[in-house]
Amino acid sequence: MTQSVVLAPITESLPAFISSAQYSKVFVIADSNTRRYCYPLIKPLLPKHKLVTVSSGEKHKVMATCETIWESMTSAELDRHALVINIGGGVIGDMGGFCAAVYKRGIDFIQIPTTLLSQVDASVGGKLGIDFHGFKNHIGVFNIPNSVLIDPFFLKTLSEREIRSGFAEIIKHCLIADGEKWKVISHNDFEEQNWADLIAHSVKIKQNIVDQDPTEKGLRKILNFGHTLGHAVETYFLGKSESERLFHGEAIAVGMIMESYLSFKRGLIDRKTLVDIEEFIFATYGKVLIRPEDVEPIIALTRQDKKNRGSEVRFSLLEGAGKCGYDIAVPVSDMRKAVAYYMG
Ligand code: NAD
Repeated sequence: MTQSVVLAPITESLPAFISSAQYSKVFVIADSNTRRYCYPLIKPLLPKHKLVTVSSGEKHKVMATCETIWESMTSAELDRHALVINIGGGVIGDMGGFCAAVYKRGIDFIQIPTTLLSQVDASVGGKLGIDFHGFKNHIGVFNIPNSVLIDPFFLKTLSEREIRSGFAEIIKHCLIADGEKWKVISHNDFEEQNWADLIAHSVKIKQNIVDQDPTEKGLRKILNFGHTLGHAVETYFLGKSESERLFHGEAIAVGMIMESYLSFKRGLIDRKTLVDIEEFIFATYGKVLIRPEDVEPIIALTRQDKKNRGSEVRFSLLEGAGKCGYDIAVPVSDMRKAVAYYMG
């Protein structure tokens, strides 16, 4: 089933959605920031509703927060004909969607993504879930929201660091599926990018891939380019101090350099492509300090990757700029070289 994604001012798309169905109750989930910056924009567009606000940040994308949300849904007496509206970034989308998808075996929900990352990636494709015991997205389900309402206007209150983080998924979409667009973005500085155009482009690419393989049996795995080592790096730094913590996209940017190196080592991309990717990513994100003692714990974390088969760690690797393969087993010795390549 193709997911409904509407790219339009929220003042048009939200009333249109609400009037298209009859819901017994409306329940809004926000975090402390989107409660402040985004909820005021949708509040006047909604019928009577209940709002639950949870703490912001990845460390709250856990079971304890879900319990708070389910308690609030229960005390609001939501039945199976209620609607949940998730207004926030990927954390609220993943967790609020998960809460709705399993509450009373599943009720309707829509996503209103408010970060660049969630507009170009997290809100599309129906992956929902939470982190568990430090492992990213360890518990979750596939479930398509009833609609995704994207309005770039929400990005106005987002920090530049958050926009930069979301840009990583745009870079990934270009690298795995559109070599021409990769040329365009890589010839522009971060400040010169056309966000509205890039959001529409990324959504189209992701939707096209997800439509062909909704539950990630094959092709959809290419969306994980940069994410095997990237997720391991993200998880590793999640356990460190707040000042060392990486945003999701920042970790994926690290992973994309490491995994481009693996693509190069296998003869799947030429040296110029590797260098172009590396130079653009370093220019956009700078370099994350990975110390020699970090290498083995990061590699150990790849063993939890959801694409793995038995003890084999499998990667999605570039086959040129704009094309990607998947299910490529990579031995630990090559992963070490990839991390060492990044460290320089
Ligand atoms: P996030 O949801 O934590 O949002 C980042 C920060 O921005 C938060 O502090 C949030 O409160 C704040 N914020 C959100 N919108 C704002 C706005 N308009 N103005 C001001 N502040 C705002 O993080 P994210 O980067 O959006 O998403 C990361 C999460 O998405 C991760 O948990 C990742 O695993 C997940 N993800 C999921 C998928 C998927 O397919 N489901 C894909 C990629 C990433």
